[in-house]
Amino acid sequence: MVRFALLGATALQATVVLGALTSQSLPARDEELRLVKTSEEDAGTWMTEEQKFEQLISKGIHFADITDTMSNLQTWTNAMANFYNRYYKGTYAATSAQWMFDTAKSAAKANSAITVKQFAHSYNQPSVIAAIPGTSGEVVVVSAHYDSIGSTTSGRAPGADDNASGVVVVLEALRVLAEAKFKPANTLEFHFYSGEEGGLQGSRGVMQSYSRSGVKVLAVMNQDMTGYSPNNVIAVYTDYVDAGLTSFLQKLVPVYTQLKLATDKCGYACSDHGSARDAGYPAAYVCDEGMADSSPYIHSANDAVSTLSFPHMLQHAKLTVGFLVEGSYF
Ligand SMILES: [Zn+2]
Repeated sequence: MVRFALLGATALQATVVLGALTSQSLPARDEELRLVKTSEEDAGTWMTEEQKFEQLISKGIHFADITDTMSNLQTWTNAMANFYNRYYKGTYAATSAQWMFDTAKSAAKANSAITVKQFAHSYNQPSVIAAIPGTSGEVVVVSAHYDSIGSTTSGRAPGADDNASGVVVVLEALRVLAEAKFKPANTLEFHFYSGEEGGLQGSRGVMQSYSRSGVKVLAVMNQDMTGYSPNNVIAVYTDYVDAGLTSFLQKLVPVYTQLKLATDKCGYACSDHGSARDAGYPAAYVCDEGMADSSPYIHSANDAVSTLSFPHMLQHAKLTVGFLVEGSYF
């Protein structure tokens, strides 16, 4: 039985990691605008390097430059939505899988200790698993599915909220911890599943395999939809999940994000946490909204990038890094 205790010191450490999201840089140009925020409530202001110096640095005002995180979230989301669809048995199954594999490797490249592998299934869209090796022999997982489905299996399906938004949040957490050269006690794994829309098939394949080979998974935090939230909440669902892990995640929301906690129920097999649970592992589900106000556009051609809030997704990224840093010491 795992006890999910909140560790204040590691909470601070994760804040430091997130505070360091600054200087993975595009080539500096004098006119380049940077997105800068001076408080938790500040949504950010675009300014040049010169303005940063004149308005903030020279006056001793502390600030965080969040340009790179925001541009990563946007670049990756656009790339995913640009696939006509990412249906797991469709024309773009293999190319979207290759993009997922290449992008996970690129996000992890700052730390050569991180492994990135494909996990094969019976269909032509492997899942992707990145791992930051720990020392304990136990594993903590964050997950999101990258396949999409439209109103027909071959139809247009940008899958922006469902679930490019979850994937890019997990990718950004991987990038941040890779750049920080974070050394966990428990191995941290980042799972990008295929075939979710075909009945949780990617996650089921991975988790059944882990169970058969005796992999000790302490916790799974699954995210499916992180960018559409009219009530500006983070929703931690309470059915078909591990109660202890869920209540732990609910405690993390006010520690690592500026958003209100919401709770709801979504029924059996509503996303990939169901596969972890079926394999006997503690799993929890985090989403951008309760059921009633969730995106009306999913599973259609209208699940577009324009419906997303990237600042909201940034909050999910912070929660993900917080969970991983906390979870690295479970
Ligand atoms: Zn989904």
